[in-house]
Amino acid sequence: MFTDKNSGIHLVMTGAPGTGKGTQASVLKRRFGLCHLSAGEMLREEINKGTSIGKRLEPLLAAGSFAPDDLVIEMVENRILEPDCANGFILDGFPRTINQAEVLDKMLSSNKIKLNAVLEIVVPDEVIIDRIAGRYTCVKCGESYSDNFYKPKVAGVCNICGGTKFSKRLDDNRETVVKRLAKYKDLTYPTINYYGKEGVLKKVDGNGAVDVVAKRISDAIGF
Ligand SMILES: [Zn+2]
Repeated sequence: MFTDKNSGIHLVMTGAPGTGKGTQASVLKRRFGLCHLSAGEMLREEINKGTSIGKRLEPLLAAGSFAPDDLVIEMVENRILEPDCANGFILDGFPRTINQAEVLDKMLSSNKIKLNAVLEIVVPDEVIIDRIAGRYTCVKCGESYSDNFYKPKVAGVCNICGGTKFSKRLDDNRETVVKRLAKYKDLTYPTINYYGKEGVLKKVDGNGAVDVVAKRISDAIGF
């Protein structure tokens, strides 16, 4: 699709847990052949593969510390230069803090990569709480569903892979969701303001059906 790394699509996807940003990232990934880079999944992959980053990370995470920003950025940099990211990438769950956003900026500009947009998916708290409480995931491909908003077309069968096993996270209940939302706001709102000042922030109303929100995103990013 694109011949060099500077002409791909480079997005940061942000939004509280339960805004449907993971689902929208999957839509964008399929539509443009982008790689979807979730910080949490990348960390687990480094550790599972026993890479040099993974080996440095493991003792820190085992001791209950956060992954240090410089290691995370090194991991992201390695990853976005791989061939499957040639059409571009969607960063999901990163950056989470202003420091991470600044380090990311430096790394991207040293690779002559510009962010096309930072998408903030906005959904009212009450809607998020209802969504997460009814949420479950396909065991085989990881597609997320919700009782109230996004059910499989055929009951009990995954839309994406045809899998029939689903799992529900134990912490997907009202009480923990309220806590997660508060934590998200404390930590990530400053990052959103940072991108607001840089002029790349696009706020997208995430309240609605998956295809409706996908259309709003494509209008916001202009493709
Ligand atoms: Zn599936």
